[in-house]
Amino acid sequence: MTGIEDSKRLFERANEVVPGGVNSPVRAFRAVGGTPRFMTSAKGPYLTDADGNEYVDLICSWGPMILGHAHPAVVEAVQQAAGRGTSYGAPTPGEVELAEEIVARTPVEKVRLVNSGTEATMSAIRLARGFTGRTKIVKFAGCYHGHVDSLLAAAGSGVATLGLPDTPGVTGATTADTIVLPYNDVAAVEEAFAEYGNEIACVITEAVPCNMGLVPPLPDFNALLKAKCRRSGALLIIDEVLTGFRASRSGWYGIEGVPGDLVTFGKVMGGGLPAAAFGGRADIMDHLAPAGPVYQAGTLSGNPLATAAGLATLRNATDEVYETIDRSAALVAEAASAALAKEGVPHRLQTAGNLFSIFFTDEVVGDFAAAQRQDSKAYAAFFHEALDRGVYLPPSSYEVWFLSAAHDEAALERITDALPHAARAAAEARSAE
Ligand code: PLP
Repeated sequence: MTGIEDSKRLFERANEVVPGGVNSPVRAFRAVGGTPRFMTSAKGPYLTDADGNEYVDLICSWGPMILGHAHPAVVEAVQQAAGRGTSYGAPTPGEVELAEEIVARTPVEKVRLVNSGTEATMSAIRLARGFTGRTKIVKFAGCYHGHVDSLLAAAGSGVATLGLPDTPGVTGATTADTIVLPYNDVAAVEEAFAEYGNEIACVITEAVPCNMGLVPPLPDFNALLKAKCRRSGALLIIDEVLTGFRASRSGWYGIEGVPGDLVTFGKVMGGGLPAAAFGGRADIMDHLAPAGPVYQAGTLSGNPLATAAGLATLRNATDEVYETIDRSAALVAEAASAALAKEGVPHRLQTAGNLFSIFFTDEVVGDFAAAQRQDSKAYAAFFHEALDRGVYLPPSSYEVWFLSAAHDEAALERITDALPHAARAAAEARSAE
């Protein structure tokens, strides 16, 4: 570590002109304290900051960089696309190819490209309401679907609590039709459908919740949601923005096989450029303008650089890539858990396929309430010790850790070397309390 003076100076400058100094809150390190590192380049499994410090990256841009950073095929595809022009505002062959690639791998029959996961879930909900003619939506506490107004409601207790907004700026009226239920709570789902069944337009759920840390769905939970929706005439929206093309070549669908009526995608399918999508049954998707009445549009939707990066990423995400990530994820997860166990730090490793997170609590985490009972101070100490040793973990204990196929032996060794020290720091933080 050569110091972080340049990152400190950049953070001061950023704070003058950008709220909180960052363009997405988690980047500010508020949950763990300290100065966020300003990154200037990345290659394979490594990030390099403004001071020249190198880190093994366990965020991978929060999911997209499944091949590692600056993969030659992706860089070349983007360079070539840029040379042909950066945006046309007219249809392009790349959009057709990316849509075909998504349709071939997933249960969706038709797909619309957008620019972010937020746009995908927002548009899917509008379409579900337009298609069903109903107003209410069901979401689960602790599931994150982007900063869509009507989905920024995770508050509420009891069984079928009508949502209360989580943030100033979202009005009660906006979330009044959002029903927030505890995750994995079958009785709560039954009660919500018993009470509001014929008013529910859709249930939206993460395929595997990864935004309160990882909470695996109970066996058959997604299938139960599908059955409930079908019976009541509601649509099931499965949010695969994070899991899509990462959990397997077909996302979580490739593992569990429960098809959403609508499915949202993002992250990996954009290869690190802004691209996302929502898709589903053709009869539902054909309700979108210009085929149907539900309006949805975007100046940069299907952008040629983003589609080129997405296509190059998906086409290079071979079976070998997934096998490598599966193996590396298991190795890192087990090494972290073993290091914490050795230091007597209460923790719980939760996994779903190649996705995992570590909760700093020893109870089973089945929902958001349990996730909130973890020791965030111990995590902060763990995080900073790893960072000082050149390992960049998510700056919050509510996140999963992301690996790529570029995490080779040297990168994995740097992680496994750092973990025992990070675990010791976590143990010391606990005993200092
Ligand atoms: N849905 C899920 C499951 C996510 O994890 C995220 C982002 O992390 C989103 C939606 C929102 O995507 P974006 O940040 O691209 O708007």
